[in-house]
Amino acid sequence: MTNKDVKFCTRCLYSNKHALGITFNGEGVCSGCQIHDEKNQLDWKFRLEKLKKIVRPYKSKTRKNYDCIVPVTGANDSYYIVHLVKNILGLNPLLVNYNKYFNTPIGISNLANLRIKFDLDIIFKNVNMRSVKKITKYSLLEYQNIYWHILAGHTVFPLEVSIKHKVPLIIWGAHQGLEQVGMFSHKHEIEMTRRYRHDHDLFGTEADQLIKLENELKEEDIFQYRYPDDSTINSLGVRGIYLGNYFRWDPTNQHQMMIKKYGYKSAKLPRTFDTYDHIDCFNYMNLHDYLKISKCGYSKVTDHVCREIRHKRITREQGINLIKHYENIKIENLDIFAKWLDVDSNSLNFVLNRSKNEEFWQETDINKFEFKGPSSYFPKLSEVNKNEINYNLDMDFVSTNKIDLKQSTRKYILFGKGIE
Ligand SMILES: [Zn+2]
Repeated sequence: MTNKDVKFCTRCLYSNKHALGITFNGEGVCSGCQIHDEKNQLDWKFRLEKLKKIVRPYKSKTRKNYDCIVPVTGANDSYYIVHLVKNILGLNPLLVNYNKYFNTPIGISNLANLRIKFDLDIIFKNVNMRSVKKITKYSLLEYQNIYWHILAGHTVFPLEVSIKHKVPLIIWGAHQGLEQVGMFSHKHEIEMTRRYRHDHDLFGTEADQLIKLENELKEEDIFQYRYPDDSTINSLGVRGIYLGNYFRWDPTNQHQMMIKKYGYKSAKLPRTFDTYDHIDCFNYMNLHDYLKISKCGYSKVTDHVCREIRHKRITREQGINLIKHYENIKIENLDIFAKWLDVDSNSLNFVLNRSKNEEFWQETDINKFEFKGPSSYFPKLSEVNKNEINYNLDMDFVSTNKIDLKQSTRKYILFGKGIE
């Protein structure tokens, strides 16, 4: 990739290389920034009233069933979503959680506290670990991805519960395609689709495609991840709506509110300044993020920076320095992952090297790569005082806890017991 191939938004720091696809207007402003502007233009009171009308028919009249299903984790807006569903919309949700197995103590603690503070029913799905490991090993080797089972499980389990309990309404937080790249307007009121899950969450790979002659995966390993068929979905009228279309979505503010109101815990992660997202997982901001920059040419910190620029909490100049700083930070916990998956470090290194996309990495020697991704073409800006950046971020992003890496607790919490 050369300087000529890359085009940056004139407002945020996304480029035309964004994995979800991005477009630019005549002034060079990206589709994500244009849709973000709607947040300051829409009549949110009107939109809330509209949402109340949408959910009203789903309220159980006899109170003998739940009003809706809400997928939750020990991080990622879960508290705010449940707060809106229970306290603002007045619904009685059934919470569902898919066990991702890479759980941090803080994620388990957040999930336990969520159940206690909101006092709601919750169902957990623990797919047997043998199948999860087989899937993870295969998706890592074949697609350089360790998150397939998590995204597949997190998106299919709510539907399973919805169908089983005959609760047709599923409520999600914000839509990633809308928030990041403006794939839709808020006014389109986009709903959950099989198609988006297939194309983006599962990078085009459905459960059935995992079974191959050359691997050990069998029907009993993958059936848990198969999306229900259309006739089942349609006969019950299952629909999944996104709260981001009806509330002005601002994850940073929301998390800060949840810390104060409900004791949500936050923590410093190695490869980003955001202390609220993804703190429930040992791998998301480590190996998973490393694979993201290897394949897509940018890391999660770019997503966080662009969001903060759009909300006018940091400048573009600060964003450039933040991305350059965090993108290069070494990943941690690889040894725990290798042990859990029972792979040796040579195989893991082989996969890491193989994950380097030629478009963004140039091999300069055997297994030595030079980064040529978008951030290496950032416009040259005047030096910003790095201390000032760190100071500002420490002020804004609260860490209530540490991801505890003491030897005794430095392992995945496989099944959460609701411990403090
Ligand atoms: Zn932009």
